[in-house]
Amino acid sequence: MSVEFPEDLQEAIRFHGHVCPGLIMGYRAARAARDYLQVERPEDEELVAIAESDGCGVDAVQSLLSCTLGKGNLIYRDQGKQAYTLICRKKGRAVRVAARPGLFDRTPEQETAFQKVMGGTATEEETVVFRAFQRERLEWMLEAKTEDLFTLTEVSPEVPGKARIFKSVTCEYCGEPVMEPRARIRDGKVACLDCCENYSRGW
Ligand SMILES: [Zn+2]
Ligand SMILES: [Zn+2]
Repeated sequence: MSVEFPEDLQEAIRFHGHVCPGLIMGYRAARAARDYLQVERPEDEELVAIAESDGCGVDAVQSLLSCTLGKGNLIYRDQGKQAYTLICRKKGRAVRVAARPGLFDRTPEQETAFQKVMGGTATEEETVVFRAFQRERLEWMLEAKTEDLFTLTEVSPEVPGKARIFKSVTCEYCGEPVMEPRARIRDGKVACLDCCENYSRGW
């Protein structure tokens, strides 16, 4: 290992389960957003993060910023972009950190190796070559200048509503409790989404 991982990154790696370029990008994004807004690791729901993809990087955001799905201060918007918005409620400020294009480009050979490794058909040698490439890339990402990785934009701190706690009702079909706003009525009885027929005309 030529690069020493800082403690907060090691924590993110433990949380995520492995180290990969995606995690490093999330790590760098979280740090960039935190530095920009000048906030420390948040108490409770002071910080809210919006993630625009559900790849590896979002785990670093959860680990570093303590913005988690369970606490309701991590919001997922399926935009398919490596971008995160961090909102600081206390300061009434927000920053969007978006990955620059080209950071994940691979040569055709690297792409072939990547596909094989992902598909589980790579030889040992191809796996070793690919791992070395990944390692080189993530070390570069770890040490690159923030402006080489991201564009940072101050955005309006549109703070989504705080996490709410709802009453539960019992589904009369399967007997499981379900939060009221998710419950439906089926044949005059309370039903959970699993027990409902889905009627939709595509709207
Ligand atoms: Zn990963
Ligand atoms: Zn049910």
